[in-house]
Amino acid sequence: MADLRLPTTPIVRPDKDRFLAEENPFEAMMSRFDRAAELIDLEPGIYKVLRSPEKQIIVSIPVLLDSGEVEVFTGIRVLYNTARGPAKGGIRFDMAVNLDEVKALAAWMTWKCAVVNIPFGGAKGGVICDPLKMSAGELERVTRRYTAGIIKVLGPDSDVPAPDVNTNERVMAWLMDTYSMHVGHTVNAITTGKPVEMGGSLGRREATGRGCMLVAREALAHLGMNIKGATVAVQGFGNVGSIAAQLLRQQGCKITAISDRTGGLVNTKGIDVDDAIEHIRKHKTLEGYTKGDVISNEELLTQGVDVLLPAALENVITTKNAASIKAKIICEGANGPTTAGADTILDEKGIFVIPDILANAGGVTVSYFEWVQNRGGYYWSEKTVNERLEEIMVRSFQEVLHLSLQHKVNMRTAAYMVSINRVATVHKLRGIYA
Ligand code: NAD
Repeated sequence: MADLRLPTTPIVRPDKDRFLAEENPFEAMMSRFDRAAELIDLEPGIYKVLRSPEKQIIVSIPVLLDSGEVEVFTGIRVLYNTARGPAKGGIRFDMAVNLDEVKALAAWMTWKCAVVNIPFGGAKGGVICDPLKMSAGELERVTRRYTAGIIKVLGPDSDVPAPDVNTNERVMAWLMDTYSMHVGHTVNAITTGKPVEMGGSLGRREATGRGCMLVAREALAHLGMNIKGATVAVQGFGNVGSIAAQLLRQQGCKITAISDRTGGLVNTKGIDVDDAIEHIRKHKTLEGYTKGDVISNEELLTQGVDVLLPAALENVITTKNAASIKAKIICEGANGPTTAGADTILDEKGIFVIPDILANAGGVTVSYFEWVQNRGGYYWSEKTVNERLEEIMVRSFQEVLHLSLQHKVNMRTAAYMVSINRVATVHKLRGIYA
């Protein structure tokens, strides 16, 4: 049965302006983009096209609250680029949502879909609201009115949303129903991350964590390190972090540190991941889990491990702490965990970073599988989903690695080079419509 619970342990962003602490999110994305664009000698005309989002929509969302009052929320949807196919990207409900961040995340989605070579463009959306303070009815009304507000851009051929921070299968079910009511028939390919009962894909829930495990495995092999006994620290023990930890454990890794928003713990003998997941199932957070020594989230990042897997927040590895990081590999499960300034320090230290647009692309890859299954009306087994995911993640990792070695650049720059090149090629082939 689908998990239709509303978010209970949302991403906590203690500092609403986290991004601004070091850099504006759009500029952070652009600084990486510019470096890769220069290296692939991107034509100036295409450069201008790729620096600009295609469409930015801001809607007011009037909602009748349970109290009888009317509140007006603000909703945003940015379609960054659709040259390679329908725009794809999540919707977040969060007080920190703002246009700059949504634009950056929509661009990220464009590069992420291109790096794994799935036929989607990039989008992102959000509603400025605090879901923790809202009832299920209020959240449903916000979702439906937001969907109606952006309905002209939505469609299985134009823009396909997905869950993101503080949204889930439940929210996607409302969105799909609202869209279907507007067009007069059921369109399950309008969104991904739906409950399996209404066309969601088997394996979607585990896909991002599985993708992280696969690229971490490839990185360890590339560096000549044995996966059996490799030590791993995981920040964030939600969907991505806990599943990646579980799968890495199954590959023989030793998970020595984990954390969530309540703090972390370290155990050099190895943490029993299944037991920690069971604790979270019962208690919602890691608080009270005592099978290790207590550490802070900051201390987790500087553990002497083989693999560090940040899987919670953006901008946690910064110029302030990058020099203290001891991991040999950073596998970016979260979106944007490393600032552009920190990249340079990590390079100098010789740390092998598997960038977010590659490391966490397993989720969007299985979202693509979901959309394909919906459109074909034929559903795959979980084994088939996992096999096809593995094929795409391994191939994409090797393509990025190849370019990184060829051009002597880090994996992030190589990943951007691969993806910008793919999007630019399609623009060149299509030409500029006048
Ligand atoms: P989640 O809500 O399931 O889990 C988030 C985890 O982070 C929880 O354990 C939470 O307690 C922890 N956390 C929250 N605030 C924290 C803080 N201040 N310090 C430390 N930990 C904190 O979310 P998720 O789906 O696992 O997503 C995690 C990251 O991965 C996000 O950056 C998200 O954008 C990215 N991501 C997720 C997917 C996906 O398919 N779920 C796909 C791509 C990228």
